[in-house]
Amino acid sequence: PRLANQIAAGEVVERPASVVKELLENALDAGASQIQVDVEQGGVRLVRVRDNGGGIRQQELPLALSRHATSKIHEAEDLEAIGSLGFRGEALAAISSVSRLTLTSCSGDEGAASVRVEGRDMAPVIQPAAHPQGTTVEMRDLFFNTPARRRFLRTEKTEFGHLEEVFRRIALSEFGTGFQLSHNQKVTLQLLAARDAAARAQRVARLCGAAFIEQSVPVDVEASGLRLHGWVGLPTFSRAQADLQYFYVNGRVIRDKVVNHAVRQAYSDVMYHGRHAAYVLFLELDPALVDVNVHPTKHEVRFREQRMVHDFLFRALHREVAALKP
Ligand code: ADP
Ligand code: MG
Repeated sequence: PRLANQIAAGEVVERPASVVKELLENALDAGASQIQVDVEQGGVRLVRVRDNGGGIRQQELPLALSRHATSKIHEAEDLEAIGSLGFRGEALAAISSVSRLTLTSCSGDEGAASVRVEGRDMAPVIQPAAHPQGTTVEMRDLFFNTPARRRFLRTEKTEFGHLEEVFRRIALSEFGTGFQLSHNQKVTLQLLAARDAAARAQRVARLCGAAFIEQSVPVDVEASGLRLHGWVGLPTFSRAQADLQYFYVNGRVIRDKVVNHAVRQAYSDVMYHGRHAAYVLFLELDPALVDVNVHPTKHEVRFREQRMVHDFLFRALHREVAALKP
């Protein structure tokens, strides 16, 4: 089973950023309102994610590390109704097969406990531990036992850049949760839970830059069961901001042709050669109207009513975009 885990790990765990993505999604699934991420050496040496969510019961700790044991998909139809972010039941198994992993948790009903796995085929042993309500997953020495994969890792700066991007995407989608990110013992981002519009805009400014939010227009449009909200910003020349394009469907960041086309069309009057649209947008719709791709690393969706979604997006955006003043 460890070999199968290592193969699965190739798909799920590409670099420290993928570890952070999986651990953050788990913390959010557990209902955390505070999440702290500590990283060393771009995440290769250490990724530690601590949350104050529901926790894991002692007896279930080893199970949490075993592949598919916890998959949230029980029936094929469940695929249509997936509400939680994690649903494959293999992230922790995959990560623990290519690193040194310690899982410590307190579920409230009983004392805290931890389990530790080190890449090998070893039965996790439950140890008593000290931990407040919630869970800490500590991953050390990524790919220590798979040198070939370790060689694909880039510089500390590049890996931390990828990791920050994952953190940014998730922090943008969960305004009600407080986040902290530290790198090599220094706090690089501190985000308080945002309860009102002003606090949300402030978080966007922290994550996307003050210039983006100052030169953007807020959007909030609802029609025929669809709601689009967020910010559309001035098209920008800056290469660095070329990817300031965040689009979420029911809380999940996605890339999609229908969405891209509608947004481009809405921007067409204010687009000049070499400019890029800049936006942070959230589309909410009935989950039955959209298929989420089940591939772990892709961010694809398929709308049942593509035309309807396209037209809604264009109508919701084009007047707001036209109002943007450089
Ligand atoms: P999945 O999230 O797809 O179920 P994972 O391997 O990511 O699979 O996690 C396995 C299980 O471990 C989860 O289903 C959950 O029960 C438990 N778990 C993992 N992380 C946490 C956490 N931070 N808080 C509470 N439970 C967790
Ligand atoms: Mg998960």
